[in-house]
Amino acid sequence: MAARLASISVDLDSLHHYCRIHGLPETVLDARARALVYTTAVPRLRELLRAVGVPGTFFAIGEDLAEAGAAAALREAHAAGIEAANHSFSHDYALTRRSPESIREELARGEEAILAATGARPVGFRAPGYTLNAALYAATVERGYLYGSSTFPAAPYYAAKAAVMGALALTGRPSRSILDSPRVLLAPRTPYRPDPARPYQRGTGAVLELPMAVTPGVRFPFIGTFATTLPWPAVRAAWCACRGDAFFNFELHAVDVLDAADGVPPELVRRQRDLRVASARKLERLAAIFRWLKEDADVVTLRVAAERLAPSL
Ligand SMILES: [Zn+2]
Repeated sequence: MAARLASISVDLDSLHHYCRIHGLPETVLDARARALVYTTAVPRLRELLRAVGVPGTFFAIGEDLAEAGAAAALREAHAAGIEAANHSFSHDYALTRRSPESIREELARGEEAILAATGARPVGFRAPGYTLNAALYAATVERGYLYGSSTFPAAPYYAAKAAVMGALALTGRPSRSILDSPRVLLAPRTPYRPDPARPYQRGTGAVLELPMAVTPGVRFPFIGTFATTLPWPAVRAAWCACRGDAFFNFELHAVDVLDAADGVPPELVRRQRDLRVASARKLERLAAIFRWLKEDADVVTLRVAAERLAPSL
């Protein structure tokens, strides 16, 4: 039997993207807060991966790399063995509603920014807001990607997102996040080749899809935000439920290692509740989970996971 695989990936969404989700003006962020993900979260994440002795994949947003110090931080991470992958140029939550041409441009500009920072062209893509459609999938095929990791087939997450967006609409601060098609709930939980016309279904597409971890059955999402904030026995139970899977794709965000004391503006902390939890506590939990992965599986970058899984899919 082939060894079980696990990957750890982190979406390096800078704080202004959270302002957009929560309908807050970006002016609440000072220069320090705008740069926080690359100046503070990236070094913490690198140290966490190094301490446990596992590799990782960082999904970078092209426009964020223009902030002071960001490109250098990504270059250093890449030099230390972390894969740098593409999370689009501007992280437009409505990317799938754009024209095919505009979608291609978002991918290409994201790639160029990462290439300029690290010297390597990314081979993996994650859609902003995890929303995939045929045009976006086609753009990854056309641009020669090895894998995508955008499918998040989680029912509770979908419900929570719908509730938050409904509440924001009532307060007159509409979120810029868009609701994904409920079809994503029927998407495979395990790596698959998408149908290019319906990328949440199985087919024969050239670019592999590596869905983010959700438990079998109830499809509870096993992601950083929940792993750092929910009661620990629930996290442990969710992990145990996933143990039969041949591949475990643990997705985090840079904010999972930040807290209010780092200089996140209070307006944002009020809306992003996980920022109230001390970063030291979140780091401790993440280290414990990384060790679970290491004990049970061969922990590799998403790129290596895609290379190893491709022949069997
Ligand atoms: Zn993102």
